[in-house]
Order: sequence, then C-alpha cells, then structure tokens
Amino acid sequence: MRFDIITIFPGIFESLFAAGIIKKAQDKGMIEIQVHNLRDYTADKYRQVDDRPYGGLEGMVFKPEPVFKAVESIRQPGRSLVCLLTPQGELFNSKLAEKLATYRQVVLVCGRYEGVDERVSEYLVDEEISIGDYVLSGGELAAAVVVEAVSRFVPGVVGREESVRHDSFSTGLLDFPQYTRPRDFLGHKVPSVLFSGDHQKIARWRLKMALEKTLAKRPDILKSRKLSEEEKKLLSEIQEERKES
Ligand code: SAM
Repeated sequence: MRFDIITIFPGIFESLFAAGIIKKAQDKGMIEIQVHNLRDYTADKYRQVDDRPYGGLEGMVFKPEPVFKAVESIRQPGRSLVCLLTPQGELFNSKLAEKLATYRQVVLVCGRYEGVDERVSEYLVDEEISIGDYVLSGGELAAAVVVEAVSRFVPGVVGREESVRHDSFSTGLLDFPQYTRPRDFLGHKVPSVLFSGDHQKIARWRLKMALEKTLAKRPDILKSRKLSEEEKKLLSEIQEERKES
C-alpha cells in the first residue's frame, strides 16, 4: 500500500515516519510513503500555491491549478483514493481507516491558510476527511494520523505481539485493561484472575472489563453493537454489580 502526501511543508513528516511501526513497515516494503512538495507543481518563478479569496476576505487560499496538477501526476491507475484533509470532511474513525487500507494508493492533500479552492473538493477529490471538530493550521498532522491509523490495518504491519484484534474500536468495544510488572504498585494490585492460568476465565474477565469500560466511557458505540448472548449476560452482571455498589 502506498501513501502520497501533498504539502507545502514536506519537512514536517521526516521525523514522524522515521520511528516505530511505520518505519519498520516501510523498511519491510509493506507500506510506501512519498511526500510531495506542492510548489513543485507550480509554473511561475515564485512557485506560488496560494492567492487572495474572491469576495474580499482576508487570508489566502490554495489555488486549484497546482493541486490538480500534483494529483493528476501522482495518482496511479487502479485502486487509488484521493483525500483532502479538511475540518469539513467525514469524521475519521477506525471504520474509515479500515476502508482506506483496502486501497493500493491513498493520496492525501494537506491544506493551509484559509483552505483550498472549493473546486478541488468538488471536482478532484474522492473523500474529504476531518480528524476532529477543531481547526488545525494545516493538514499535515491530520495526514500523519491517517497514515498511522490506516497502516495498522495493512496486513503484516502490526505484529502478533501488538495485534489489532482487540484494539479499541476494532471489536466495537474499547480495549480491556492491561497490566504489567510490578504486581503490586503502591498498594494497587493487578487483578488476581490474570494469575489464575485459566485462559477461559481470563478471556471472560477481559470481555467483561471491555464491556464495563465501554459502558462507562463510550455508551454510544455500545449501542451500535450487536451483543452476543454472553455479552448480554455479562452486561446484566455489570448492571447488577453497579446497583449493589
Ligand atoms: N477555513 C477552513 C475551515 O474553516 O474549514 C479551515 C482552514 S485550516 C486553518 C487550514 C487547513 O488545515 C485545512 O485546509 C485543512 O487541510 C487542515 N485542517 C484543519 N483542521 C483540520 C481537521 N480538523 N481535520 C483535517 N484537516 C484539518
């Protein structure tokens, strides 16, 4: 899978992709990340990518020509998707990340200033993506978030020891609590079930904890989950316990 990022600040990405899982995945050839300077697609001597907005407001807007030129030269035939990072886009989540991971190429256009000429959204991009209901100064951090989250769904990128299987959201539940040494930290003990050696019991406890956490922190995602019989039973146990305490 290949990511192509179009930006006026390519240097921002140097350290972001030079460590951890993303670096390993690139080294092993599982993902490829190419960062392109939008200014390389301008035709004038000042390499100007922006201009004043029509209608007389302050600030600058990305001109359509360099963005169209960049995307048209970078986009590959086949399963490719062109995305514009914008606070007006679809809210990015695990489901969208999983969908993007099915493409061979994802092109990410990063805006700056007041944004990008509307004709880019209307006639060039396939998907507009927002990473949250707030405004950043540029699309670069948003693009990095997308690359990182999507890469985790590319087969082989995340090793078995770091499996995405039980990650928050991939099961429709938040992840269960995790503990490591020491067994007793300042009097706060690790739940004894984890030392029982009974894998079935541990799995049931983890499912119960995941349900309990989701119910407490994100009841909205629990509502959209089709609960198994075991989950229904565990949830009523949790509700009983809540009443008692
Ligand atoms: N005037 C624009 C608006 O209100 O929709 C915001 C422009 S913002 C200052 C500059 C650029 O940052 C945007 O073009 C976009 O690429 C990026 N950006 C800002 N917030 C974002 C968000 N929440 N998600 C994704 N990209 C964002």
